[in-house]
Amino acid sequence: MAKNLFDLTGQTALVTGSSRGLGRAMAQGLAEAGATIVLNGVDAARLKSAADEMRAEGFTVYEAPFDVTDEDAIKAAFAKLDAAGVAVDILVNNAGIQLRKPIVELSSDEWRKVIETNLTSAFIIGREAAKRMIPRGRGKVINIGSLTSELARATVTPYTVAKGGIKMLTRGMAAEWGEHGIQANAIGPGYMITDMNQALIDNPTFDAWVKARTPARRWGRPDELISTVVYLAAPASSYVNGQLIFVDGGMASVL
Ligand code: NDP
Repeated sequence: MAKNLFDLTGQTALVTGSSRGLGRAMAQGLAEAGATIVLNGVDAARLKSAADEMRAEGFTVYEAPFDVTDEDAIKAAFAKLDAAGVAVDILVNNAGIQLRKPIVELSSDEWRKVIETNLTSAFIIGREAAKRMIPRGRGKVINIGSLTSELARATVTPYTVAKGGIKMLTRGMAAEWGEHGIQANAIGPGYMITDMNQALIDNPTFDAWVKARTPARRWGRPDELISTVVYLAAPASSYVNGQLIFVDGGMASVL
């Protein structure tokens, strides 16, 4: 019985922002657990190369190159999946950007862009997915939050506002969709080795701060999210709803 708890055979997972970084690693893990994957990103060439890499390993992969801030493109992508007979059973709202600037230097457009990419996108894509999951009576939504879902940090305020919003969006989805057999949970990664953080990894002062501040004394690897995303996507988590699980080497728990 335990072995089937993590089996995703016959399920389809849409992972936004999965051409690289954390999304790519989570897509790989979900595929290895048996899921068909819908990869997403804005850079079509990068998306194709990630998809081809996975196909070469024998996985079934669709490409959905849309910008998560473009509502029309999101609706068109879902319509295309509908037409192809592809039903999304698992949605991972992962696409995101970060902008480092003090509040007084931020333009309103910059503020809106960070909120739209990291938070509004999860609402719109979640809504489109849930409209299709509700009639089927099942579905798993996994939103990617952050340490900043709980903790503020100077120079990334719109990002922290968006990620704090992800925590409450997840709870709202759980509250409304639980009765339809849909679960919504969130993952809060710590400081992970991806393109988003490359400048910070290369900065010796910041690198030393991360290592000193994290009980694990190191940055996280993208593949270290796989077990948590598979758990939240799988039958194993059937009574877990509305939670935010940190995968952060212990950082959120200590001063
Ligand atoms: P990366 O910058 O490495 O990758 C971002 C991914 O998102 C790429 O696939 C990119 O596509 C895609 N993307 C960006 N903007 C859009 C958009 N408008 N529409 C569609 N796709 C888009 O980021 P990470 O992998 O580091 O981060 C992934 C998520 O995890 C983000 O939500 C981030 O906030 C969160 N996170 C990351 C942490 C970290 O330490 N790295 C810590 C906590 C949370 P393309 O290749 O086409 O540009």
